[in-house]
Amino acid sequence: MPKTVSPHSVYEKKLRQQQDLLLRSMKSAVEQGRDAGMDDTQDVADQAVASYQKEFLFSQGTNGHAQMQLVRQALERLREGSFGECQNCGETIGAKRLEALPWTPFCIACQEKVERGELEMPVRAA
Ligand SMILES: [Zn+2]
Repeated sequence: MPKTVSPHSVYEKKLRQQQDLLLRSMKSAVEQGRDAGMDDTQDVADQAVASYQKEFLFSQGTNGHAQMQLVRQALERLREGSFGECQNCGETIGAKRLEALPWTPFCIACQEKVERGELEMPVRAA
């Protein structure tokens, strides 16, 4: 038997790494957002920076939440054995696409429909 790694275990590893990364960045976004603006001693320029950072971190946190759902759903599909199938048309998603975006629910053709507004992502962005 040649030593081969199941491609699914590679995807699972990537998905779990992404999940960790998202968890960490979401946690720090919330913590930093809470800290920003709490300091009364900062001057006006600092306050402007803090409020900009708050906005930026908030939007990061929002995107992180939606992506976290996609990662969870992909891990669920790995368990169910339907990983790699487009959630819209059922076509097999290309290996290159899965390697770059293992959490993607759609094949390229359906992703283009999402971008044209013809198809909705299975998660809400907020
Ligand atoms: Zn598709």
